[in-house]
Amino acid sequence: PETITIQELANRMSERGVDVIRLLMKQGQMHKITDVIDADTAQLVAEELGHTVRRVAESDVEEGLFDTPDMDAENLVSRPPVVTIMGHVDHGKTSLLDAIRQTNVVSGEAGGITQHIGAYQVTSPLGGKITFIDTPGHAAFTAMRARGAKVTDIVVLVVAADDGVMPQTAEAVAHAKAAGVPLIVAVNKIDKPNADPQRVRTELLQHEIVVESLGGDTLEFEVSALKRTGLETLLEGLQLQAEILDLRVDAGRSAEGTVIEAKLDRGRGPVATVLVQRGTLRPGDIVVAGAEFGRVRALVNDQGGMVKEAGPSVPVEVLGFNGTPEAGDRVAVVESEARAREITEYRSRVKRERQAARGGAAAGRTLAEMM
Ligand code: GDP
Ligand code: MG
Repeated sequence: PETITIQELANRMSERGVDVIRLLMKQGQMHKITDVIDADTAQLVAEELGHTVRRVAESDVEEGLFDTPDMDAENLVSRPPVVTIMGHVDHGKTSLLDAIRQTNVVSGEAGGITQHIGAYQVTSPLGGKITFIDTPGHAAFTAMRARGAKVTDIVVLVVAADDGVMPQTAEAVAHAKAAGVPLIVAVNKIDKPNADPQRVRTELLQHEIVVESLGGDTLEFEVSALKRTGLETLLEGLQLQAEILDLRVDAGRSAEGTVIEAKLDRGRGPVATVLVQRGTLRPGDIVVAGAEFGRVRALVNDQGGMVKEAGPSVPVEVLGFNGTPEAGDRVAVVESEARAREITEYRSRVKRERQAARGGAAAGRTLAEMM
């Protein structure tokens, strides 16, 4: 049955919880602020206090928030691919991400100071932009998939040429397949004397990855993150793969995206790195992410600069959330703060009920979660 806590009911009416409790007491019901009452009682209380009640089915609360169709086909623009690098530990994921970023900074934005925000964008030698997710591969990928967020368009599978296919290589292949995301192979550490890229190719066959040189259709690149060789060709390959995928979205609509990382910053408050996936995000927009909402105060790009807007596939730090959302939370812009409150209160309640059902007491609940 539909229920609501007295605290939430009071919040929604902008009344004090104590007044709700007092009113219930007059009707012979003794409650504390954390008690749950049923929807009919809540409606009586609300009407008694002079509010108009609109009962919505729970499923309606989220309706129209995500995956609403792009209305105008003419507004569709091609967006950069979003790439996640995966592979076995020590095969060079971090080195490759750093090498790609630095190569690009040197050539593109001389003197630019990159800062770690969980994702960054580079320009391929063919001129197209590519967005890399910079957070530790598997964990982030899995966490996001678990929340139903699909952010990655292409997986770059890094395999060290001196080590070959290892357990986490196979895991990454499985992740990419399960998510239906195309995969590109980067055979790394090609500079090593004992590098054996051919062995990598044949070992991948056991995981049903057939690279081009063996007659398959999986793109493959030999690279050295250390010597920075093969990187430009890899970027070109990513752009070509993206063109095949024909990634088009409406950039004109209100923004939707996903939280890549989030933290509570001492000086700046909650900071969420958001990958915008459709539409354009701007300061002043009211955003919801998971059980949090806020009005965008500022957008900071991967170069540390303030920007006036962030379009599809652009990662930005979003300042202005009232609480810290979680990685994997989906982000949407809503029309009003009232709507933002309705959605996040509903989600908070669902979250609490789940925790309660699991036996996790409300004791560990944070202030943010209670909003
Ligand atoms: P990760 O665990 O996949 O992120 O791997 P790292 O990027 O941390 O690299 C693991 C080790 O391999 C480090 O000591 C790197 O310096 C080294 N490494 C990474 N790429 C290359 C490469 O292309 N050539 C050589 N020789 N060493 C590399
Ligand atoms: Mg690493």
